[in-house]
Amino acid sequence: MEERKKYVAHCLVLPYPAQGHINPMLEFSKRLIQRGVKVTLVTVVSNWKVVSRKNFTSIEVESISDGYDEGGLAAAESLEVYLETFRRVGAQTLAELLQKLAGSSHPPDCVIYDGFMPWALDVAKNFGLLAAAFFTQSCTTNTIYLHTYNKLLELPLTQTGYLLPGLPKLEAEDLPSFLNRYGTYPGYFYVVVNQVSNIDKADWVLANTFYELEQEVVDWLFKIWPLKTIGPTLPSMYLDKRLQDDKNYGIEMYVPKSEACIKWLDDKPKGSVVYVSFGSFAGPNVEQAEELASGLRDSGSYFIWVIRDSEQEQLPKGFLDTAEKGIIVNWCPQLQVLTHEALGCFITHCGWNSTLEALSLGVPVIAMPLWTDQITNAKLIKDVWKIGVKAVADEKDIVRKETITHCIKEILETEKGNEIKKNSIKWKNLAKSSVDEGGSSDKNTAEFVDELVHRRA
Ligand code: UDP
Repeated sequence: MEERKKYVAHCLVLPYPAQGHINPMLEFSKRLIQRGVKVTLVTVVSNWKVVSRKNFTSIEVESISDGYDEGGLAAAESLEVYLETFRRVGAQTLAELLQKLAGSSHPPDCVIYDGFMPWALDVAKNFGLLAAAFFTQSCTTNTIYLHTYNKLLELPLTQTGYLLPGLPKLEAEDLPSFLNRYGTYPGYFYVVVNQVSNIDKADWVLANTFYELEQEVVDWLFKIWPLKTIGPTLPSMYLDKRLQDDKNYGIEMYVPKSEACIKWLDDKPKGSVVYVSFGSFAGPNVEQAEELASGLRDSGSYFIWVIRDSEQEQLPKGFLDTAEKGIIVNWCPQLQVLTHEALGCFITHCGWNSTLEALSLGVPVIAMPLWTDQITNAKLIKDVWKIGVKAVADEKDIVRKETITHCIKEILETEKGNEIKKNSIKWKNLAKSSVDEGGSSDKNTAEFVDELVHRRA
């Protein structure tokens, strides 16, 4: 009973086991904790082995199984098999966990589940719990997948332009790769499109975006979903700075091993460094890595390039000897890099987190999308928010070195680059305001907690 009184409600937070999903859901959890909610993070066993060593101070951690307790996705024979096994074993082990917690001193009131795992909504409802979907992609992307699920977008794509409610006109090549390259990665196609399959049962739909960023499409979705935009979910210390002790919440998942690149940045001229990262999952192929390497070298700019250890052999031999102004790291504290004075621009794959981070920190972007919703994010970056340029690929789908050099110079040295920087600052201010006291996302988070407390009673 004492335990119950300490908190206004108890949420289980259930992210899909990937960096770009865990981070935003953890950051949102901090905002809930700040408002008196008890949060239990539920990870798959293979992740839990990492997470449970992290000394979480303000959050409890429980696990379910994806069927691959040793190794997760990497241990599965294919993506399709992994996802199907996860659906089956995940639903069963989540039910067992909910059964166990029902008998605890503070049983959960609500499951906040990742949109990639709609089966968790069914399980939560079987236990009579409240449930909130959490979408880790833009509302633009949500709308595109919703139309695909409802067969209002016919596949394969044949039209020359698509007009969906609340969105600018999109060409086929602006739509996510699973649509514009229909047939590729059927497992992911199924996952992204089926995010909305049972959404009518959800009590809330939480989206990691902010109202001012996607106003028209949010207004449209708001008519059909109990939607609350609650982002951007960057740590408070980079935005509103209202979470006391933000750093010490102890729930950052991936603390980088070294901050060497921050030291390296310290003596570089203001606005001079190009930061290159393709996120935690995909990366450029060998030919693309070669072109990028040459483009960076030829630009004569300072650069930091994040390449995971497993992919470093893709670099041309001796590259670093000829490109003296750059460093390669296998991981970096991206937010610290993006906020460093020396930073000039960000060559990014346009994953939704990286997109929001660049936009919220006022960093101009060179968009080099690889797949999924990155393609659509790149379109918004260039044409709607005007915070960057797109490095356009040739007919072999490779961005050539000349294009890369041109984009870098365009951002760092031209009037167009200055305009882009001005726009970036505008969005940075809007992003901060949205999570600051009384801002759109702040109000929505407060409303979510109020409704939760009211409805759980
Ligand atoms: N990230 C990081 N250090 C790196 C590369 C990436 O901290 O060296 C973080 C980045 O800040 C972002 C996340 O990893 O929060 C990547 O998410 P995103 O949605 O951009 O891409 P994904 O990994 O899902 O493709």
